[in-house]
Amino acid sequence: MIPIVLAGLAVLLAWVAPGLMARRTGFRRAPRAALVAWQAVSVAGILSALAVAPAALPLLGGDEATARVELLATAALLSGAVLARLLWTGHDVGTRLRRVRARERELVDIVGRRDADAGDGRFRVLENPMPTAYCIPGRGSRVVLSQGVLDALPRDQLDAVVAHEHAHLRGRHDLLLEFFSVVHEAVPGPLRSEAALSEVRLLVEALADRAAARRAGEVATARALVALAESRTPLSALGAGTTAPVRLRLLADGPAPPALSTTAYVYATLAVLLPVALLALAWA
Ligand SMILES: [Zn+2]
Repeated sequence: MIPIVLAGLAVLLAWVAPGLMARRTGFRRAPRAALVAWQAVSVAGILSALAVAPAALPLLGGDEATARVELLATAALLSGAVLARLLWTGHDVGTRLRRVRARERELVDIVGRRDADAGDGRFRVLENPMPTAYCIPGRGSRVVLSQGVLDALPRDQLDAVVAHEHAHLRGRHDLLLEFFSVVHEAVPGPLRSEAALSEVRLLVEALADRAAARRAGEVATARALVALAESRTPLSALGAGTTAPVRLRLLADGPAPPALSTTAYVYATLAVLLPVALLALAWA
């Protein structure tokens, strides 16, 4: 019975939970805690699927051995397929992202100007009149600004933009998004939730906005967001833009009450504990 419950839980966590969570927009005010909850639900879904086979093992003892061998074989097949798919997707997504980023880094190093103002050698300025800012994460990370953004934004707003990009790089938000992309692509097509992936992307932006607001103030951050709202950035990079209206509202709302973060953390803990508890129960 428990292997079947675990398989059901895996579907629930991979399919039903993300859709429901994406609708609870109140948690956007606590982006860090909300991201932990999203990760926990993904990890719990994977754990549930992988635990189906080990949970079926104790069934081998006892009567009706033939039927149980069949159940165990099915369980092993399911867990094995999930593991293989995750590993394959992880390799695929990772290789693709790193190749595209390496090419983009090469490109901005060729066409971009090194900004004499910045000491760490990571800044590149593109001769583009459109205000654009983004970062290329990973080894040899870059912060890319357009001449347009340097011309259009006053000092404090530029500080906000740079603080936002640095928050992405420092927090390794690329790895976080890579994890969610892998989980997203590993889930069979009909079960995928696009809303979940865009919600996670929004939370990552909200988190970087918080860092920018701490550095340059909420007003400067909000103005910089507006200035960059129309900007386009490479898909594989972490850039500002697109979600600007929601992020402006989140900035205006300010940090969440502590109870909201606590709720998200408790939810995250319970999500991970559930498959572990079920597996322990199977072996008890
Ligand atoms: Zn960003």
